[in-house]
Amino acid sequence: MPFRALLFDIGDTLWHARNAPPPAVFRSLAAERAAAFLRELGVRCADPALVARTAWDAMEQAMRHARATDLVEPDYGETARRALEEIGLLLDREVAGRLLEATYVSGVEGGKAPYADAGHVLAELRHRGFRLAVVTNRAFGGERFRADLRDAGLDIGWDAETVSVEVGYLKPHPEIFAHALGQLGLSAARCLMVGNSLAEDVAGAQRVGMAAAWRRSAPDAADVRAEYEFDELTELLAIPELQEPAG
Ligand SMILES: [Mg+2]
Repeated sequence: MPFRALLFDIGDTLWHARNAPPPAVFRSLAAERAAAFLRELGVRCADPALVARTAWDAMEQAMRHARATDLVEPDYGETARRALEEIGLLLDREVAGRLLEATYVSGVEGGKAPYADAGHVLAELRHRGFRLAVVTNRAFGGERFRADLRDAGLDIGWDAETVSVEVGYLKPHPEIFAHALGQLGLSAARCLMVGNSLAEDVAGAQRVGMAAAWRRSAPDAADVRAEYEFDELTELLAIPELQEPAG
């Protein structure tokens, strides 16, 4: 299979959350941030912890629903707005979205750390001449996501960055893969998707005609087989089809 580019999932593929603080720490950080956000807005609020939790739970529920149904990214601002209205806090959609983002504890602060070999493997693949992209399911994109990548040492100057919330579709929807291919200007046959989810990364890529390398983890789909399997990222460097890019 003559590859020109590799597309990487991020969570549990390039970074992991082994150092994540306990949930209680997340909750209290989120509550502090909700309090600061509301103070700045000039909104009096008796229970910022409830606000943070309500917005966050609504977002997670919407995300779970989307993953189980049409894979269309929900409007998280509207989702949070409605949930907050139910507890008597009236914000407009845009402000509710900003509150959600303000209370989000992510990246290194959220305990994310790159796998020890991630930087080396990406640098070596690039040195060999492969183009590199990320394709990730995330509720927050933009500068927030880029800062998280930077802090984790994973801002390698990606040739394409495809973030579900920016595209409007979640993996394994074909549109998110098509978007990445469009950014790269390559056909599916020239790309290898690398990820830890059989359902989202492997099956999703294969559905659009892309081969996949599965980082072995608890299987989340039956009857899905990747073209390649590995335990450590370093093993990618030994794959014969990844010694040099197809011309
Ligand atoms: Mg993942």
